[in-house]
Amino acid sequence: MIIIGYARSSRQGRARSKMAGRANPFDWSGGHPALDLVNTLDERPSGAPVENLATYGDLVRFAELAGLIKAPASGRLRSLDGPDGSRIARRARELREHLYAILAAVHSGRTVPKVSLEAIGSEVRRAHAARVLVAAATSNAVRHGWSSPSSPEIPLHACALAVETLLVMADHSRIRKCGASDCEVYFIDTSKAHRRQWCSMQNCGNREKQRRWRAGAD
Ligand SMILES: [Zn+2]
Repeated sequence: MIIIGYARSSRQGRARSKMAGRANPFDWSGGHPALDLVNTLDERPSGAPVENLATYGDLVRFAELAGLIKAPASGRLRSLDGPDGSRIARRARELREHLYAILAAVHSGRTVPKVSLEAIGSEVRRAHAARVLVAAATSNAVRHGWSSPSSPEIPLHACALAVETLLVMADHSRIRKCGASDCEVYFIDTSKAHRRQWCSMQNCGNREKQRRWRAGAD
């Protein structure tokens, strides 16, 4: 999958983005768009999680910033918001929570929930059905395109395909949950030494090290 404009930012960066009023409240520490999708529900362990996919506009923005759809398409899609958009955003949140259920099960050594695999499989089938093969303009190559480029479901389909890629293609031994006790951000460890522990060293890493140091000093 081609990732366009894939960006990273720390929680501090997100806080600055929020303060500046820019529509980028997302956590990009996942290292894969499907993990970044899971992390759109922020502060999971707090009991009052922060929902960053509340609206269809949020979903379009996420898909654009994650590189799953291109900017011109995102402008067109945003104009399609309405009751259908709300339903599509809800399906995206359900897709996300089913992926979270699978990651959490794997992380704690439980059996992967069948209901979540089936729900994700259903969205993946819809996404595949929405694609067509098209000839690339500048070469003889053939690429995937959307059969209905103005369908409001495109950002959801793009997320479903990213989830499929993660589940089928990724090295699952590298998918980790942040080591901080109060953080449930998932990421894929692409470091050379395979020792990444934190979603963000600046935030969780330093905070957890201070906590452990204080616990050891008591
Ligand atoms: Zn963390």
